[in-house]
Amino acid sequence: NLSERLERIASNVPSGVKMADIGSDHAYLPIYLVQKGVALSAIAGEVNEGPFRGADRHVREHGLADSISVRKGDGLAVLQPGEVDVITIAGMGGYNIREILEAGKDKLPGVSRLVLSPQGDSDRVRKWLQLHGWKIIDEDILTEDERLYEIIVAERGEMNITDEMELEFGPFNLARKHPLVVDRVEYEQGKIRRALAAIEKTPTENGLARKVELLARRAQLEEVR
Ligand code: SAM
Repeated sequence: NLSERLERIASNVPSGVKMADIGSDHAYLPIYLVQKGVALSAIAGEVNEGPFRGADRHVREHGLADSISVRKGDGLAVLQPGEVDVITIAGMGGYNIREILEAGKDKLPGVSRLVLSPQGDSDRVRKWLQLHGWKIIDEDILTEDERLYEIIVAERGEMNITDEMELEFGPFNLARKHPLVVDRVEYEQGKIRRALAAIEKTPTENGLARKVELLARRAQLEEVR
């Protein structure tokens, strides 16, 4: 049984595709997708020896070695161009996901959908997508074990997000006023309140510049609520 997080990621993989899961760890996601008949075949990529072996063992235990290829390597380096239609990258920071996409750009022609699930720094991922001809078609956000996970689904296309709050919190999450996004906005507002109070209490040399920044961000956050 998949966790709710992986299940929600899986639900964004269309039927009949060849997929790759990068940073697959136990290979739970490709195993599930192939078993369900959603994916015709899958590639599980892992850069680290331990998880790579775990994925390999798991796939063989499930008798799926013919349909899931477990490969060791960094990011998209395990793929040949044109090999898959969908790539999932989940359970890592937004910076890392961005790095993997950037370093593996030459493997993306032929890929029609990305399902990305950054833990933090999702603005990095949105900015990269926008700059490289991808359009966000849906988003989701959830907590698991008290951690916040986002899911960003992108396909080929133009998008033009200029609003910093949309880059940070996600255009779909904001439009839906997702309760977890509202929580996050409140959390960020709390941080600003405390930072402003600290500046008032102990004035420093660059305190004024910092205050101006904080006030600008406070105004932006106020608008999304
Ligand atoms: N994707 C699974 C999930 O969401 O449950 C596993 C997430 S696990 C926290 C992150 C995995 O990504 C680790 O097994 C790690 O070894 C792998 N990883 C990190 N950077 C990677 C990279 N550049 N290429 C391939 N795998 C990577």
